[in-house]
Amino acid sequence: MANVTLKSIRKTYENGFQAVKGIDLEVADKEFMILVGPSGCGKTTTLRMVAGLEEITEGEMSIGDRIVNDVAPKDRNIAMVFQNYALYPHMTVYDNMAFGLKLQKTPKTEIKERIEKAAKILGIEALLDRKPKQLSGGQRQRVALGRAIVRKPEVFLMDEPLSNLDAKLRVQMRAELIKLHKDLQTTFIYVTHDQTEAMTMGTRICVMNEGNIQQVAEPKTIYNHPANIFVAGFIGAPQMNFMDGKLVEKDGKVVAEIDGTEIDLASDAAKMVKTNGYIGKDIVLGVRPEDIKVEASGKGLKVRVEVTELLGSDLNVYFTYKGKQYIAKEDSNVDLEFNQEISVSFDSNKLHFFDKETEKSIL
Ligand code: ATP
Repeated sequence: MANVTLKSIRKTYENGFQAVKGIDLEVADKEFMILVGPSGCGKTTTLRMVAGLEEITEGEMSIGDRIVNDVAPKDRNIAMVFQNYALYPHMTVYDNMAFGLKLQKTPKTEIKERIEKAAKILGIEALLDRKPKQLSGGQRQRVALGRAIVRKPEVFLMDEPLSNLDAKLRVQMRAELIKLHKDLQTTFIYVTHDQTEAMTMGTRICVMNEGNIQQVAEPKTIYNHPANIFVAGFIGAPQMNFMDGKLVEKDGKVVAEIDGTEIDLASDAAKMVKTNGYIGKDIVLGVRPEDIKVEASGKGLKVRVEVTELLGSDLNVYFTYKGKQYIAKEDSNVDLEFNQEISVSFDSNKLHFFDKETEKSIL
């Protein structure tokens, strides 16, 4: 069993900076957990503490049923893959992959067997005699993965392993890593700042900000039910639109008053905000760009097209309402011209509501 448990884990660097502020996280055995968040939020520090490369200031870290706070990295049964691959330039691919095993005094025949097996999984059998400089970026990344696989670790730790690859290769490697995780049946903890990687690869996502965990959940839940304004704004592109407003009851209906405009709440949402005592309170309303409907004419708010961005199958439409810019995501076959008047409306079943003070979701 290789579950990884972080209990009240804190990291204060020597200069007094608190990079991780007492987090609790349970990564289940065989899970593909993604740590995602903006630059500087503490993802790498957290991963390095799991690896044993960074001392833990406070808290308890376990791998399986063993507390590892004082266990050396080499004895933790983990393997780490870095962003820069960290291959030895003077060694062949074979020797790079064999290096760790030789240090562990693994018999030669077993080293050969393990390398051949890993090379087959990764499709790098033909590259074993080459040196790293004779490889493409994607091939180097595979060798770095191969070097981790041959050690048969209980936990794979990866820190932005795809960020040095071009966009096309990144997409391909994403799929390969998902497959690798299925084949190996091992626990993966993967750090990225790329929300697409997080959404597509993780069985669960841990969203971090400023040294704290904001939400841990499956990708779908993170997207459809973000726990707070930070998560709602961080996951999703283009970003969710936010508006300040107030919830009021009118003629037996619950509506959100936003800048003099009223938006009806779906009945489930209305019930929930009433139960939770939000009538009359300041809130932040969130609506994802794809949940805004744009029509040439209709009953919605009348605004003008400011910018359109064609992205293959999608069209991003920018408009301003009462001094604030919003983005709607439409189908690319919608024909819109600059400055054209349009009618925009929100899908009331897809609205998000947040407490203005705590910034937490109120649904
Ligand atoms: P990125 O995506 O940019 O790599 P990250 O989320 O992985 O960011 P960390 O590398 O964990 O962030 O760093 C978290 C915070 O700790 C940052 O503000 C960083 O400047 C700070 N930090 C990292 N290493 C040290 C150190 N050795 N001493 C002091 N502060 C540090």
